[in-house]
Amino acid sequence: MATIYIETHGCQMNEADSNDVAARAAASGYAVVERPEDANVLVLNTCTVRDNAERRAYGRIHHFKELMSADASVRLVVMGCLAEQDRDRMKNNAPHIDAVFGTKEIAELGDTLSAWRDDFTDTEYSEERALLMPLGGTADAVTDAYTHLRDFVTVQRGCSYYCTFCIVPHVRGRFDHRPSAEILSEVRAKVHAGAREIMLVGQTVNAWRDPATGQDFASLCRDVAAVDGLERITFISPHPKDFTEAMIAEFSRIPKLAPRIHLPLQSGSDAMLRRMNRKYTRAQFQERLDWIATYLPHWAVTTDIIVGFPGETDDDFEATMEFVRSGVFANAYMFIYSIRRGTPAARWEQVDEVVKHERFVKLTDAQNAHVRAYNDRLIGRTVRGLIVGPSKKDRSKLTMKSGDNVTMIAPMPPEYDEQRYAREPWLDMIVDDARVWGCTGRIVRQAEHLEDEGVRVSAPMISLV
Ligand code: SF4
Repeated sequence: MATIYIETHGCQMNEADSNDVAARAAASGYAVVERPEDANVLVLNTCTVRDNAERRAYGRIHHFKELMSADASVRLVVMGCLAEQDRDRMKNNAPHIDAVFGTKEIAELGDTLSAWRDDFTDTEYSEERALLMPLGGTADAVTDAYTHLRDFVTVQRGCSYYCTFCIVPHVRGRFDHRPSAEILSEVRAKVHAGAREIMLVGQTVNAWRDPATGQDFASLCRDVAAVDGLERITFISPHPKDFTEAMIAEFSRIPKLAPRIHLPLQSGSDAMLRRMNRKYTRAQFQERLDWIATYLPHWAVTTDIIVGFPGETDDDFEATMEFVRSGVFANAYMFIYSIRRGTPAARWEQVDEVVKHERFVKLTDAQNAHVRAYNDRLIGRTVRGLIVGPSKKDRSKLTMKSGDNVTMIAPMPPEYDEQRYAREPWLDMIVDDARVWGCTGRIVRQAEHLEDEGVRVSAPMISLV
Protein backbone atom coordinates (compact mmCIF):
# COMPACT_ATOMS: atom_id res chain seq x y z
CA MET A 1 0.00 0.00 0.00
CA ALA A 2 1.28 3.48 -0.83
CA THR A 3 2.25 5.48 2.25
CA ILE A 4 2.49 9.21 2.94
CA TYR A 5 4.11 11.24 5.72
CA ILE A 6 2.89 14.81 6.27
CA GLU A 7 4.87 17.24 8.43
CA THR A 8 3.35 20.61 9.23
CA HIS A 9 5.13 23.77 10.28
CA GLY A 10 3.36 27.00 11.25
CA CYS A 11 -0.20 28.08 11.92
CA GLN A 12 -3.65 26.47 12.15
CA MET A 13 -4.24 27.37 8.50
CA ASN A 14 -1.39 25.01 7.62
CA GLU A 15 -2.75 22.36 10.00
CA ALA A 16 -6.12 22.63 8.27
CA ASP A 17 -4.44 22.31 4.85
CA SER A 18 -2.43 19.26 6.01
CA ASN A 19 -5.62 17.60 7.25
CA ASP A 20 -7.13 18.27 3.84
CA VAL A 21 -4.12 16.70 2.09
CA ALA A 22 -4.27 13.69 4.45
CA ALA A 23 -7.97 13.21 3.65
CA ARG A 24 -7.31 13.45 -0.10
CA ALA A 25 -4.37 11.02 0.19
CA ALA A 26 -6.46 8.54 2.20
CA ALA A 27 -9.26 8.78 -0.36
CA SER A 28 -6.70 7.93 -3.07
CA GLY A 29 -5.60 4.82 -1.21
CA TYR A 30 -2.60 6.02 0.81
CA ALA A 31 -1.93 5.08 4.43
CA VAL A 32 -0.79 8.09 6.48
CA VAL A 33 2.30 7.08 8.47
CA GLU A 34 3.98 8.53 11.53
CA ARG A 35 7.63 8.36 10.45
CA PRO A 36 9.24 9.73 7.30
CA GLU A 37 11.29 6.53 7.14
CA ASP A 38 8.06 4.58 6.43
CA ALA A 39 6.76 6.77 3.61
CA ASN A 40 6.72 6.60 -0.18
CA VAL A 41 5.74 10.26 -0.35
CA LEU A 42 6.98 12.94 2.04
CA VAL A 43 4.97 16.14 2.29
CA LEU A 44 6.45 19.15 4.04
CA ASN A 45 3.92 21.92 4.72
CA THR A 46 6.04 25.01 5.27
CA CYS A 47 5.75 28.33 7.05
CA THR A 48 7.58 31.56 6.47
CA VAL A 49 6.22 33.75 9.23
CA ARG A 50 9.64 33.95 10.90
CA ASP A 51 13.20 33.53 9.78
CA ASN A 52 13.75 30.42 11.89
CA ALA A 53 10.62 28.78 10.40
CA GLU A 54 12.23 29.18 7.00
CA ARG A 55 15.57 27.78 8.17
CA ARG A 56 13.80 24.85 9.80
CA ALA A 57 11.99 24.03 6.56
CA TYR A 58 15.20 24.08 4.52
CA GLY A 59 16.83 21.91 7.24
CA ARG A 60 14.08 19.31 6.83
CA ILE A 61 14.33 19.43 3.02
CA HIS A 62 18.02 18.64 3.46
CA HIS A 63 17.30 15.76 5.91
CA PHE A 64 14.82 14.24 3.50
CA LYS A 65 17.49 14.22 0.80
CA GLU A 66 19.43 11.59 2.80
CA LEU A 67 16.39 9.36 2.91
CA MET A 68 15.80 9.84 -0.80
CA SER A 69 19.37 8.95 -1.71
CA ALA A 70 18.94 5.66 0.17
CA ASP A 71 15.70 4.91 -1.67
CA ALA A 72 15.29 6.53 -5.09
CA SER A 73 11.57 5.73 -5.21
CA VAL A 74 10.72 8.16 -2.38
CA ARG A 75 9.15 11.45 -3.53
CA LEU A 76 9.21 14.80 -1.79
CA VAL A 77 6.47 17.42 -2.04
CA VAL A 78 6.85 20.89 -0.53
CA MET A 79 3.72 22.97 0.04
CA GLY A 80 2.68 26.03 2.09
CA CYS A 81 3.87 29.62 2.34
CA LEU A 82 7.58 29.00 1.78
CA ALA A 83 6.74 26.92 -1.29
CA GLU A 84 4.74 29.86 -2.62
CA GLN A 85 7.48 32.36 -1.85
CA ASP A 86 10.52 30.34 -2.93
CA ARG A 87 9.08 28.22 -5.74
CA ASP A 88 11.87 28.95 -8.24
CA ARG A 89 14.65 29.09 -5.68
CA MET A 90 13.60 25.67 -4.38
CA LYS A 91 13.64 24.06 -7.81
CA ASN A 92 17.19 25.37 -8.37
CA ASN A 93 18.63 24.84 -4.88
CA ALA A 94 16.92 21.59 -3.95
CA PRO A 95 16.45 19.60 -7.19
CA HIS A 96 15.55 16.47 -5.19
CA ILE A 97 12.12 18.05 -4.55
CA ASP A 98 9.63 16.34 -6.87
CA ALA A 99 6.83 18.88 -6.70
CA VAL A 100 6.09 22.28 -5.19
CA PHE A 101 2.51 23.39 -4.49
CA GLY A 102 1.46 26.87 -3.44
CA THR A 103 -1.17 27.66 -0.87
CA LYS A 104 -4.02 27.63 -3.40
CA GLU A 105 -3.03 24.39 -5.12
CA ILE A 106 -4.18 21.73 -2.67
CA ALA A 107 -6.59 20.19 -5.17
CA GLU A 108 -3.74 19.86 -7.70
CA LEU A 109 -1.57 18.27 -4.99
CA GLY A 110 -4.39 15.76 -4.35
CA ASP A 111 -4.51 14.96 -8.09
CA THR A 112 -0.73 14.42 -8.18
CA LEU A 113 -0.87 12.05 -5.20
CA SER A 114 -3.64 10.14 -6.88
CA ALA A 115 -1.62 9.86 -10.11
CA TRP A 116 1.46 8.64 -8.21
CA ARG A 117 -0.33 6.07 -6.07
CA ASP A 118 0.05 3.12 -8.45
CA ASP A 119 3.81 3.68 -8.62
CA PHE A 120 4.02 2.50 -5.00
CA THR A 121 1.63 -0.39 -4.77
CA ASP A 122 4.49 -2.90 -5.12
CA THR A 123 6.94 -1.19 -2.78
CA GLU A 124 7.66 -3.01 0.41
CA TYR A 125 8.24 -1.58 3.81
CA SER A 126 11.94 -1.63 4.62
CA GLU A 127 12.75 -1.97 8.31
CA GLU A 128 16.39 -1.59 7.32
CA ARG A 129 15.72 1.85 5.86
CA ALA A 130 13.75 2.82 8.94
CA LEU A 131 16.61 1.78 11.19
CA LEU A 132 19.29 3.45 9.10
CA MET A 133 17.51 6.73 8.62
CA PRO A 134 15.71 7.85 11.75
CA LEU A 135 14.76 11.39 10.72
CA GLY A 136 12.63 12.54 13.64
CA GLY A 137 9.96 15.18 13.08
CA THR A 138 6.28 15.10 13.86
CA ALA A 139 3.63 13.72 11.58
CA ASP A 140 0.91 16.19 12.42
CA ALA A 141 -1.62 14.82 9.98
CA VAL A 142 -1.57 11.28 11.36
CA THR A 143 -4.99 10.29 12.54
CA ASP A 144 -5.37 8.58 15.91
CA ALA A 145 -8.44 7.55 17.90
CA TYR A 146 -9.18 11.16 18.86
CA THR A 147 -8.14 13.26 15.85
CA HIS A 148 -11.64 13.31 14.40
CA LEU A 149 -13.07 14.86 17.60
CA ARG A 150 -11.74 18.30 16.73
CA ASP A 151 -11.45 19.43 13.17
CA PHE A 152 -10.71 22.56 11.18
CA VAL A 153 -12.87 24.27 8.60
CA THR A 154 -11.21 27.00 6.54
CA VAL A 155 -13.59 29.92 6.02
CA GLN A 156 -11.25 32.28 4.25
CA ARG A 157 -7.86 32.32 2.59
CA GLY A 158 -5.38 35.17 2.22
CA CYS A 159 -5.41 38.58 3.83
CA SER A 160 -5.72 42.12 2.46
CA TYR A 161 -4.33 44.02 5.44
CA TYR A 162 -0.60 44.12 4.69
CA CYS A 163 0.81 44.52 8.17
CA THR A 164 4.35 45.71 7.54
CA PHE A 165 5.94 42.73 9.33
CA CYS A 166 3.84 40.01 7.70
CA ILE A 167 4.47 37.94 4.59
CA VAL A 168 1.00 36.35 4.44
CA PRO A 169 -0.68 38.73 1.93
CA HIS A 170 2.40 38.41 -0.29
CA VAL A 171 2.36 34.62 -0.39
CA ARG A 172 -1.31 33.76 0.18
CA GLY A 173 -2.85 36.68 -1.70
CA ARG A 174 -5.78 38.93 -0.79
CA PHE A 175 -8.98 37.89 0.99
CA ASP A 176 -10.82 35.02 -0.60
CA HIS A 177 -13.96 34.22 1.46
CA ARG A 178 -15.67 30.85 1.03
CA PRO A 179 -19.43 30.90 0.56
CA SER A 180 -21.44 30.16 3.69
CA ALA A 181 -23.18 27.17 2.08
CA GLU A 182 -19.82 25.50 1.35
CA ILE A 183 -18.58 26.11 4.88
CA LEU A 184 -21.75 24.71 6.44
CA SER A 185 -21.70 21.65 4.26
CA GLU A 186 -18.08 20.95 5.30
CA VAL A 187 -18.99 21.46 8.98
CA ARG A 188 -21.91 19.01 8.62
CA ALA A 189 -19.67 16.43 6.92
CA LYS A 190 -17.02 16.72 9.65
CA VAL A 191 -19.59 16.49 12.45
CA HIS A 192 -21.10 13.47 10.70
CA ALA A 193 -17.58 11.95 10.69
CA GLY A 194 -17.39 12.43 14.47
CA ALA A 195 -16.16 16.00 15.12
CA ARG A 196 -17.37 17.43 18.44
CA GLU A 197 -15.42 20.67 18.09
CA ILE A 198 -14.90 22.71 14.94
CA MET A 199 -12.30 25.42 14.66
CA LEU A 200 -13.18 28.01 12.01
CA VAL A 201 -9.88 29.07 10.48
CA GLY A 202 -8.92 32.17 8.54
CA GLN A 203 -5.99 34.53 8.46
CA THR A 204 -8.35 37.31 9.60
CA VAL A 205 -11.28 35.09 10.39
CA ASN A 206 -13.73 37.70 11.75
CA ALA A 207 -13.41 39.76 8.55
CA TRP A 208 -15.21 36.89 6.79
CA ARG A 209 -18.20 37.88 4.65
CA ASP A 210 -20.27 35.65 2.46
CA PRO A 211 -19.26 36.68 -1.09
CA ALA A 212 -22.86 36.69 -2.35
CA THR A 213 -24.93 37.92 0.59
CA GLY A 214 -22.46 39.87 2.75
CA GLN A 215 -23.45 37.76 5.79
CA ASP A 216 -20.98 38.50 8.61
CA PHE A 217 -18.86 36.27 10.83
CA ALA A 218 -21.10 36.36 13.93
CA SER A 219 -24.03 35.23 11.83
CA LEU A 220 -21.88 32.44 10.33
CA CYS A 221 -21.03 31.29 13.88
CA ARG A 222 -24.77 31.21 14.67
CA ASP A 223 -25.43 29.04 11.61
CA VAL A 224 -22.51 26.73 12.42
CA ALA A 225 -23.78 26.42 16.01
CA ALA A 226 -27.12 25.22 14.66
CA VAL A 227 -25.47 22.15 13.09
CA ASP A 228 -26.84 19.14 14.92
CA GLY A 229 -24.25 17.17 16.85
CA LEU A 230 -21.65 19.94 16.98
CA GLU A 231 -20.77 20.67 20.60
CA ARG A 232 -18.07 23.34 20.62
CA ILE A 233 -16.92 26.06 18.20
CA THR A 234 -13.63 27.92 18.28
CA PHE A 235 -12.10 30.32 15.77
CA ILE A 236 -8.65 31.61 14.88
CA SER A 237 -7.21 34.13 14.10
CA PRO A 238 -9.35 37.26 14.40
CA HIS A 239 -8.22 40.86 13.89
CA PRO A 240 -9.14 43.53 16.50
CA LYS A 241 -10.22 45.92 13.72
CA ASP A 242 -13.02 43.59 12.59
CA PHE A 243 -14.70 43.11 15.96
CA THR A 244 -17.79 45.27 16.40
CA GLU A 245 -19.83 45.64 19.55
CA ALA A 246 -22.75 43.92 17.81
CA MET A 247 -20.53 40.95 16.87
CA ILE A 248 -19.26 40.49 20.42
CA ALA A 249 -22.79 40.86 21.81
CA GLU A 250 -23.93 38.17 19.34
CA PHE A 251 -21.20 35.80 20.56
CA SER A 252 -22.76 35.96 24.03
CA ARG A 253 -25.94 34.44 22.53
CA ILE A 254 -24.10 31.43 21.01
CA PRO A 255 -23.50 29.01 23.91
CA LYS A 256 -21.54 26.57 21.74
CA LEU A 257 -18.69 29.09 21.31
CA ALA A 258 -15.74 28.12 23.51
CA PRO A 259 -15.15 30.87 26.10
CA ARG A 260 -11.89 32.18 24.68
CA ILE A 261 -11.22 35.09 22.36
CA HIS A 262 -7.91 35.80 20.70
CA LEU A 263 -7.22 39.52 20.37
CA PRO A 264 -3.74 40.10 18.92
CA LEU A 265 -2.33 43.30 20.41
CA GLN A 266 1.13 43.17 18.72
CA SER A 267 2.06 46.47 20.42
CA GLY A 268 0.48 48.80 22.97
CA SER A 269 1.99 51.92 21.38
CA ASP A 270 0.06 53.95 18.82
CA ALA A 271 3.28 54.88 17.03
CA MET A 272 4.18 51.19 16.63
CA LEU A 273 0.65 50.20 15.63
CA ARG A 274 0.81 52.80 12.86
CA ARG A 275 4.22 51.57 11.68
CA MET A 276 2.92 48.01 11.75
CA ASN A 277 -0.14 49.13 9.71
CA ARG A 278 -2.40 47.42 12.22
CA LYS A 279 -5.43 49.65 11.50
CA TYR A 280 -6.43 50.15 15.15
CA THR A 281 -5.25 52.39 17.94
CA ARG A 282 -4.49 51.60 21.54
CA ALA A 283 -7.83 53.19 22.50
CA GLN A 284 -9.73 51.07 19.96
CA PHE A 285 -8.03 47.94 21.28
CA GLN A 286 -9.10 48.91 24.81
CA GLU A 287 -12.65 49.48 23.53
CA ARG A 288 -12.73 45.85 22.30
CA LEU A 289 -11.50 44.66 25.70
CA ASP A 290 -14.32 46.67 27.30
CA TRP A 291 -16.92 45.08 25.01
CA ILE A 292 -15.57 41.65 25.92
CA ALA A 293 -15.73 42.52 29.64
CA THR A 294 -19.36 43.64 29.18
CA TYR A 295 -20.76 40.85 26.99
CA LEU A 296 -18.37 37.95 27.60
CA PRO A 297 -17.17 38.51 31.17
CA HIS A 298 -16.11 34.89 31.72
CA TRP A 299 -14.17 34.47 28.50
CA ALA A 300 -10.38 34.22 28.46
CA VAL A 301 -8.60 36.80 26.31
CA THR A 302 -5.37 35.68 24.64
CA THR A 303 -3.05 37.71 22.47
CA ASP A 304 0.06 37.98 20.29
CA ILE A 305 2.81 40.47 21.06
CA ILE A 306 5.91 41.43 19.07
CA VAL A 307 8.85 43.13 20.81
CA GLY A 308 11.70 44.93 19.12
CA PHE A 309 9.77 46.00 16.02
CA PRO A 310 11.83 48.54 14.02
CA GLY A 311 11.68 51.95 15.70
CA GLU A 312 10.37 50.62 19.05
CA THR A 313 11.56 52.94 21.83
CA ASP A 314 11.59 52.30 25.56
CA ASP A 315 8.36 54.30 25.82
CA ASP A 316 6.70 52.22 23.09
CA PHE A 317 7.72 49.05 24.89
CA GLU A 318 6.42 50.45 28.17
CA ALA A 319 3.03 51.06 26.50
CA THR A 320 2.88 47.33 25.65
CA MET A 321 3.91 46.42 29.18
CA GLU A 322 1.02 48.48 30.58
CA PHE A 323 -1.46 46.15 28.89
CA VAL A 324 0.46 43.10 30.04
CA ARG A 325 0.79 44.29 33.65
CA SER A 326 -2.96 44.92 33.81
CA GLY A 327 -3.34 41.12 33.72
CA VAL A 328 -5.96 41.25 31.00
CA PHE A 329 -4.39 38.43 28.95
CA ALA A 330 -4.93 34.85 30.13
CA ASN A 331 -2.16 33.80 27.74
CA ALA A 332 0.06 35.33 25.08
CA TYR A 333 2.19 34.23 22.14
CA MET A 334 5.22 36.49 22.43
CA PHE A 335 7.84 36.97 19.74
CA ILE A 336 11.03 38.91 19.17
CA TYR A 337 10.67 40.71 15.83
CA SER A 338 12.69 38.99 13.10
CA ILE A 339 13.15 40.20 9.56
CA ARG A 340 10.90 38.70 6.89
CA ARG A 341 12.24 39.01 3.38
CA GLY A 342 9.90 40.95 1.12
CA THR A 343 8.11 42.94 3.84
CA PRO A 344 8.49 46.72 4.37
CA ALA A 345 9.79 46.39 7.94
CA ALA A 346 12.72 44.29 6.69
CA ARG A 347 14.16 47.44 5.10
CA TRP A 348 13.89 49.62 8.19
CA GLU A 349 16.53 50.27 10.80
CA GLN A 350 16.44 47.45 13.33
CA VAL A 351 16.41 47.57 17.11
CA ASP A 352 19.63 46.42 18.75
CA GLU A 353 19.56 42.64 19.41
CA VAL A 354 20.57 43.00 23.07
CA VAL A 355 17.79 45.53 23.68
CA LYS A 356 15.27 43.26 21.95
CA HIS A 357 16.26 40.32 24.13
CA GLU A 358 16.15 42.36 27.35
CA ARG A 359 12.65 43.57 26.50
CA PHE A 360 11.55 40.05 25.63
CA VAL A 361 12.69 38.72 29.01
CA LYS A 362 10.81 41.52 30.82
CA LEU A 363 7.70 40.87 28.74
CA THR A 364 7.67 37.11 29.21
CA ASP A 365 8.37 37.38 32.96
CA ALA A 366 5.44 39.76 33.41
CA GLN A 367 3.00 37.86 31.17
CA ASN A 368 3.94 34.42 32.50
CA ALA A 369 3.18 35.59 36.05
CA HIS A 370 -0.37 36.39 34.86
CA VAL A 371 -0.71 33.09 33.01
CA ARG A 372 0.31 31.30 36.17
CA ALA A 373 -2.19 33.35 38.21
CA TYR A 374 -4.91 32.56 35.65
CA ASN A 375 -4.18 28.84 35.94
CA ASP A 376 -3.71 28.98 39.75
CA ARG A 377 -7.29 30.13 40.22
CA LEU A 378 -8.41 26.76 38.80
CA ILE A 379 -6.79 24.78 41.63
CA GLY A 380 -9.45 22.84 43.52
CA ARG A 381 -12.05 23.35 40.78
CA THR A 382 -13.49 20.73 38.45
CA VAL A 383 -12.87 21.64 34.81
CA ARG A 384 -14.42 19.94 31.79
CA GLY A 385 -12.29 19.42 28.70
CA LEU A 386 -12.21 17.52 25.42
CA ILE A 387 -9.70 14.68 25.31
CA VAL A 388 -6.62 15.18 23.12
CA GLY A 389 -5.06 11.75 23.82
CA PRO A 390 -2.13 10.29 25.73
CA SER A 391 0.42 12.93 26.70
CA LYS A 392 3.33 13.11 24.24
CA LYS A 393 5.82 13.31 27.12
CA ASP A 394 4.33 10.60 29.33
CA ARG A 395 2.08 7.96 27.75
CA SER A 396 0.69 7.02 31.18
CA LYS A 397 -1.11 10.37 31.28
CA LEU A 398 -4.00 11.86 29.32
CA THR A 399 -4.15 15.38 27.88
CA MET A 400 -7.32 17.39 27.44
CA LYS A 401 -8.12 21.01 26.51
CA SER A 402 -10.54 23.14 28.47
CA GLY A 403 -12.96 25.52 26.74
CA ASP A 404 -10.68 28.45 27.54
CA ASN A 405 -7.82 26.56 25.89
CA VAL A 406 -5.88 25.53 29.00
CA THR A 407 -3.89 22.29 28.64
CA MET A 408 -4.87 19.78 31.35
CA ILE A 409 -2.90 16.63 32.17
CA ALA A 410 -3.99 13.78 34.44
CA PRO A 411 -2.92 10.18 35.09
CA MET A 412 -4.75 7.72 32.86
CA PRO A 413 -7.64 6.15 34.79
CA PRO A 414 -7.20 2.38 35.38
CA GLU A 415 -10.15 1.46 33.16
CA TYR A 416 -8.84 3.61 30.28
CA ASP A 417 -10.04 2.25 26.99
CA GLU A 418 -9.30 4.10 23.77
CA GLN A 419 -12.56 3.19 22.02
CA ARG A 420 -14.69 4.17 24.99
CA TYR A 421 -12.84 7.47 25.50
CA ALA A 422 -13.35 8.29 21.82
CA ARG A 423 -17.10 7.78 22.32
CA GLU A 424 -17.23 9.61 25.66
CA PRO A 425 -14.54 12.24 25.15
CA TRP A 426 -15.56 14.96 27.65
CA LEU A 427 -13.55 14.59 30.84
CA ASP A 428 -13.93 16.36 34.18
CA MET A 429 -10.65 16.96 35.94
CA ILE A 430 -10.14 18.22 39.51
CA VAL A 431 -7.19 20.59 39.25
CA ASP A 432 -4.47 19.87 41.82
CA ASP A 433 -1.66 22.04 40.52
CA ALA A 434 -1.04 24.81 38.00
CA ARG A 435 1.93 25.83 35.91
CA VAL A 436 2.54 28.31 33.07
CA TRP A 437 1.94 25.59 30.43
CA GLY A 438 -1.34 24.41 32.03
CA CYS A 439 -2.71 22.35 34.93
CA THR A 440 -2.42 18.86 36.37
CA GLY A 441 -5.04 16.92 38.33
CA ARG A 442 -7.28 13.86 38.45
CA ILE A 443 -10.00 12.75 36.03
CA VAL A 444 -13.20 12.20 38.02
CA ARG A 445 -16.01 12.04 35.45
CA GLN A 446 -16.50 11.24 31.81
CA ALA A 447 -19.36 12.24 29.52
CA GLU A 448 -20.53 11.45 26.02
CA HIS A 449 -21.75 15.00 25.39
CA LEU A 450 -20.51 18.37 26.63
CA GLU A 451 -23.78 19.10 28.44
CA ASP A 452 -24.18 15.62 30.00
CA GLU A 453 -23.53 15.11 33.68
CA GLY A 454 -21.40 12.06 32.86
CA VAL A 455 -20.36 9.08 34.93
CA ARG A 456 -17.76 8.70 37.67
CA VAL A 457 -14.28 7.55 36.76
CA SER A 458 -12.22 5.71 39.36
CA ALA A 459 -8.96 7.34 40.39
CA PRO A 460 -5.70 5.69 39.33
CA MET A 461 -3.83 3.62 41.93
CA ILE A 462 -1.06 5.58 43.56
CA SER A 463 2.14 3.61 43.79
CA LEU A 464 3.89 4.10 47.15
CA VAL A 465 6.94 2.12 46.11
S1 SF4 B 1 -3.80 40.84 9.54
FE1 SF4 B 1 -1.65 41.42 9.34
S2 SF4 B 1 -0.57 39.84 10.55
FE2 SF4 B 1 -2.62 39.02 10.11
S3 SF4 B 1 -2.36 37.85 8.21
FE3 SF4 B 1 -3.04 39.91 7.62
S4 SF4 B 1 -1.16 41.00 7.19
FE4 SF4 B 1 -0.57 39.21 8.36
